[in-house]
Amino acid sequence: MALYGAAATVLSGLEAHQGSLKTLVYGSRFQNVRQLYALVCQTQRYSAVLDAVIRSAKLLEAEKKLKPHLAKVKRCVSRNEDLLESSPGAAQVIQLPRFVRVNTLKTCLDDTIDYFKREGYSYQGCASGLDELRALEGKRFFLDPLLPELLVFPSGTDLHKHPLYQAGHLILQDKASCLPAMLLAPPPGSHVIDACAAPGNKTSHLAALLKNQGKIFAFDLDAGRLAAMATLLTRAGVSCCEIANEDFLSISPSNPRYSRVQYILLDPSCSGSGMVSRQLEEPGAVSPSQERLHALAGFQRRALSHALSFPALQRLVYSTCSVCQEENEDVVQDILQQKLGPFRLVDALPLWPQRGLSTFPGAEHCIRASPEATLTGGFFVAVLERVDEKR
Ligand code: SAM
Repeated sequence: MALYGAAATVLSGLEAHQGSLKTLVYGSRFQNVRQLYALVCQTQRYSAVLDAVIRSAKLLEAEKKLKPHLAKVKRCVSRNEDLLESSPGAAQVIQLPRFVRVNTLKTCLDDTIDYFKREGYSYQGCASGLDELRALEGKRFFLDPLLPELLVFPSGTDLHKHPLYQAGHLILQDKASCLPAMLLAPPPGSHVIDACAAPGNKTSHLAALLKNQGKIFAFDLDAGRLAAMATLLTRAGVSCCEIANEDFLSISPSNPRYSRVQYILLDPSCSGSGMVSRQLEEPGAVSPSQERLHALAGFQRRALSHALSFPALQRLVYSTCSVCQEENEDVVQDILQQKLGPFRLVDALPLWPQRGLSTFPGAEHCIRASPEATLTGGFFVAVLERVDEKR
C-alpha cells in the first residue's frame, strides 16, 4: 500500500508542477525507486484509459476516501491490457516497438541476428510494412523495411542488460532518431560537424556510416551530457570524433579546422513535445507555451543559419523531437526565405509515409514522424543541400 500512496503523491506533485518525475520519485523517500518510477510511468502512460475506467465505474463516488490519483494507481497495477481493450480511450495509447540499431563499428547484421536466434528469438525477415510491426509480439523480431541495420522487437522488450548492448554492439535508438544520420549519409573519409551532439546516439551513427574514417567535430554546451557521450562513444568503438564543450554558435566557419566540413547534423535543443518519455516526466512538455516555443525557435533559427555559413557545406540535416510547427516547418521556411546561400530542400526518403505540414510550397519534402503514422516518437527532419550553381 505504501507504494500506491507514494505513487499517488508523486502524481499529484507532477500535476502541481512541484518538480520533474525523477525529482519527485527520489524525493519521496520510498525505498524501491525503480518500482515506484515504473508504476508512476505506467499510470501516466495509461492515464486517459484509467480516467475513462474510473469515470465509467463511478469509482470515486463509490469509494469516497479514494483520491483520484490513488484510484488511478490502484487500477493501473491490475491488467493494463484488459483496460485497453475495454476502454473508450484505448485508441490513444500506442505501444511503440523496441527499435535496435546494429552498431556496424563493432559487429554486423548477420552476426547479431544469429545471436538472437541462438537465444530463442525467431527472426521474421524484413517486415512488409507497419501493420506487421504493430502486430509484433512474443520472441519474434523483424528487420525494419526502411532503415538498414535496424531491428524491431516487440514493445516492452528490455535489452538494457543484454550482453550485446553492454558491449556496444547494439544502440537502443528510436527509428525516427536514426533518420538524421542516415539522411546526411556522409561517405567514409569526410568531415562532419555534429552541432548539438550530446548524448551522442546520432554521433555514433555518423561514425558507423563513416566507418570511423574521416572526422566528426562534435559540440555541446552541457558538460554533464558530454561526459555521458564520451562513455557512449567509447563503448560504441567510435574513434573518429573530437568532442568539444563549446557553444556551436561561437564556432568560426572561417577556422581552417573546418574548411573540409561538407556535412552538418543540427539536432538542436527543442521542446521535446514529440518524446513519449518527456511527456511522462513533464506533462507540460506536450504543449509548450508560446514564450518557450518562441525562445527555442529563435535559437534553432540562429543555429541553422550559422550552420549554413560553413563554406564547404554540401548537405545539412536539421532535426527535432518536437511536433510543434514553430520549431519545424516555420524554422525551415524562414531560413529558406532568407536565401542564406544556394540551398534547396531535398525530398527526403520519399517512401516515408508522414510528411511535413503543408505550410509552404515544398514543405512536404520534410519528414514528420509520430506514434500514429510511423510507430515512432514524434520527430521532424529536413534535409538541405547546396545547389550546384555551375550546372
Ligand atoms: N543529437 C543528440 C543525440 O542524438 O544524442 C541530442 C541533442 S539534444 C536534442 C540537444 C543538445 O543541444 C543538448 O545536449 C544541449 O546541451 C545542446 N545545446 C544547446 N545549445 C547549444 C549550443 N549553443 N551549442 C552546442 N550545443 C548546444
